[in-house]
Amino acid sequence: MESKITLSLFYMGLLSAVIAVALSVATFYGTVQEQVRRDLQASGDLVAVAYGRGSVSSDGLVEFGTEDLRITLIAADGTVLVDSDAPAGEMEDHSQRPEIEDALALGFGWATRQSQTLGTNEYYYAQRLEDGNILRVSVEAATVPMLLSRAAPALVGILMLLFVLAVVFAVLLTKRLLQPIRALPAQLDDPNLANDTSRVYPELVPFVQEIQNQRSLREEMRQEFTANVSHELKTPLTTISGYAEMIETGLAKPEDDKKIAGVIHREAGRLLQLIGEIIRLSELDASGLQEARQDRVELLGLAKECRETLESAAAQRGIRLEVEGSPWALWGNRTQLWELVYNLMDNAIRYNRDNGTVTVEVGKGFLAVRDTGIGIPKEHQGRIFERFYRVDKSHSRATGGTGLGLSIVKHVAEAHRGRITVESTVNVGTEIRVTFAE
Ligand code: ADP
Repeated sequence: MESKITLSLFYMGLLSAVIAVALSVATFYGTVQEQVRRDLQASGDLVAVAYGRGSVSSDGLVEFGTEDLRITLIAADGTVLVDSDAPAGEMEDHSQRPEIEDALALGFGWATRQSQTLGTNEYYYAQRLEDGNILRVSVEAATVPMLLSRAAPALVGILMLLFVLAVVFAVLLTKRLLQPIRALPAQLDDPNLANDTSRVYPELVPFVQEIQNQRSLREEMRQEFTANVSHELKTPLTTISGYAEMIETGLAKPEDDKKIAGVIHREAGRLLQLIGEIIRLSELDASGLQEARQDRVELLGLAKECRETLESAAAQRGIRLEVEGSPWALWGNRTQLWELVYNLMDNAIRYNRDNGTVTVEVGKGFLAVRDTGIGIPKEHQGRIFERFYRVDKSHSRATGGTGLGLSIVKHVAEAHRGRITVESTVNVGTEIRVTFAE
């Protein structure tokens, strides 16, 4: 963006400078022409006065001629008597020249034209003298190309200077324009930022507000998550600590030791699982979609692998695990997708009734896990993917749940452009389906 703005400013600056120079040259040309005519008239008048006083003879008039100034004396009948630039005798009758006609009729006359005698473009000024002859003075009229070629070195210099100035100003202006935008990130923590138009362009206020809102929402969610984690860690630790204390103080009977050790073992296991899932979630938070899409993962095979891992846990409650459908593969992260399928199947077992069934179906672009379990009441269905959200806390705990499984599922699905839908009827069963965009 910076180079774009700089370039536009530079073009604008250069264009206006060039237009300004061109207009100045045009105006200047007009003024110069005007001045040349005035000088011509003054010279003519001077010569006329000198001639009128008799201080110069008609032949002596040629001496007033210079390199630039041409002097011609013409008789009233048009015969050229004297000319400073050409032999008078060879020149034709001048009575038809407009400036001479005017001078004869009105006393003076002007003309600008190509000289037939000299071949150059000339200004003519003619006046009738007291003796009836016509005195004509003329100078070469400067044309625009002539003037330009004379002024060329200066013009090139000016244009180069303008070029440099345009570059410098474009760069400086861009810096100034972008400075408030550059300073924004460092100030985003200031809640008054959006109200302060000296620091934020009004056009950027909605953008700043949106970022600030997202930030505070993220901060809120993080705090909530930290509070939840602390609470979840505290519960098993309190149990462990309590039982250990009972043994330490001799409050527990020796024959209870085995039972107490079992509780401590179970609670420590829960802690480990919780910490493992928290670590997995934060890994998922850190890795983006790019890292996720690396292997060709076939979902039917993956579901069969998960079935092997979960088989014994299911068998303990007489639950049947079925995997059906046709193979379907997508680009993604194998470990993450394994976790997705595993968590869905694990839930379908844990929230199933004894001797129930879990069916995993894989097809083109989808994977669905169905169970014959307790179901999820409608009002909870939208929230079960939140971190630590459980419909029935004690049931979840009793079956070894942490409340994080489905948030991992959702995270993985999103990283693989998958959409999750839930269909569930209380005491009938639940189907969770992931549909992939691929
Ligand atoms: P948990 O570790 O508690 O199972 P999850 O994030 O996996 O955490 O699930 C969140 C909640 O959603 C669970 O506590 C449970 O109430 C509900 N739930 C998830 N899967 C099922 C299912 N297949 N049948 C009934 N309820 C379920």
